[in-house]
Amino acid sequence: MADNSYASEEPTLSDDGVDRRRLLTLAAGGAVLASGIVLPASAAEAHGTIKSYPGIWGQRTVYQATRKLKSFRYRPSFHSKMNDWLELWFKNTSYEKPLRVWTSLVHSDGSSSAAHNQGRAFDLTGIYVGVGSDSPYRAFRADYNNWKNLSGSALVDTRRKYWATAASLHYHFRWVRTYLHGSGQKSNIHIDNMKSGTGKPYFKADKSQIQHVQACCRYLWGKGTTIDGVWGSQAKRHSHEVLERIGKGGYLGSSKSHWQAFNRASMRKGYNTQAY
Ligand SMILES: [Zn+2]
Repeated sequence: MADNSYASEEPTLSDDGVDRRRLLTLAAGGAVLASGIVLPASAAEAHGTIKSYPGIWGQRTVYQATRKLKSFRYRPSFHSKMNDWLELWFKNTSYEKPLRVWTSLVHSDGSSSAAHNQGRAFDLTGIYVGVGSDSPYRAFRADYNNWKNLSGSALVDTRRKYWATAASLHYHFRWVRTYLHGSGQKSNIHIDNMKSGTGKPYFKADKSQIQHVQACCRYLWGKGTTIDGVWGSQAKRHSHEVLERIGKGGYLGSSKSHWQAFNRASMRKGYNTQAY
């Protein structure tokens, strides 16, 4: 399904990455560095240093609500992780830049989520590739309540890319919440680094990690795995079989590299970059 709605919306922002409104708000009591980093005064001290960025890994972000290009505010160390994530995603797919990364929420003082308060969370709604070319393409979409009604190869393909993208996120973040998490995640994948910080996560059998493994085994690797969020013998066996198939062996919890290998291969499998 073609979606060219962003095509006429390219030049709407001309900012330099600094959120002017925020600078004005904080100017009285906060310190603004030449780099654009804001050191907040008392009102915003709870969330630490927040900086505005026009995109991720040099690719512009788009606000889902307005469908327009928009800068968002992040904790710089979290933004750096997002850069690493998008580079990983891009290098394991076969698409052309520029990309557009769509989001419904990054930093918010008003959110009930501490991760969003601190600018350490991102609600990913979509990724477009080849923007500006003859054939821009939505290579990832998080709107589960829409795509679940697709059928045949369109459903299979969309779902494979959904879980492949989830794998790229699990590679870098401990907290990844997909549509399996609950009603709040039917239109975005939430990621944050409250647990994994600036490092990369281990497989710790979190419910969200287990759901992810089961969905990847079922939808990407054809294992017929039950998706119930329980770390049982079937999921353990099926994920082990995947690790064997990709030449890694062992189990997801064996080491950090086993978890990364599973996610990298699931990403490549889902995007047909590698057959295995
Ligand atoms: Zn969120």
